[in-house]
Amino acid sequence: MRSITHFDLQYAHRFYNFKGEAQYLHGHTGKLTIEVEDTINPGVNMVFPCNEIKKTAWHILQNFDHALVLRHDDPLLPAILAVYEKQSIRNGAPTNTMKGPAFKTDLATAYPDCRLVVTKETMTVEGMIKIVHELLRDKLNIVKLTFVSGDNTASCCYPSPERSIERCPCCGIALNSAGICPKCGCRKE
Ligand SMILES: [Zn+2]
Ligand SMILES: [Zn+2]
Repeated sequence: MRSITHFDLQYAHRFYNFKGEAQYLHGHTGKLTIEVEDTINPGVNMVFPCNEIKKTAWHILQNFDHALVLRHDDPLLPAILAVYEKQSIRNGAPTNTMKGPAFKTDLATAYPDCRLVVTKETMTVEGMIKIVHELLRDKLNIVKLTFVSGDNTASCCYPSPERSIERCPCCGIALNSAGICPKCGCRKE
């Protein structure tokens, strides 16, 4: 069965060199859906608690929220960084607190201190799905991702996971390697 979790992401971007209005800087509320598949954990009668999926994914995905997402070769990038530098907000500001950990993958690099994500490819809805899968595939048994932004939607399905994640019989979250729940301390039955 699947547990399905939704996220809202507010971001600004543009399609550099795209022959259409999306080549101008603009913003969206993007809606991401993550579908996780596993057996039902009989202890709690859930696949996985959605608030736990949310916590795991949001830890990383908050880097896209209230962020600017630009392709690495976009000339806006040095221009915006120069303004941030001049304003002394490039390397952080006391009010910039909702930050995830900096990350760098083949497809994207996050600079949480200035709420910027630099991508290898244009951040279309398809591009976002590739980025999210790369960031989360080791953490969750993802079988489907859907991303909606304005009139655009993309989705991608992935093969069912070969292994089941061992989960706490009391609260449903993933057990650590010792078979103990990091949240409530229950042990594997
Ligand atoms: Zn757009
Ligand atoms: Zn537990």
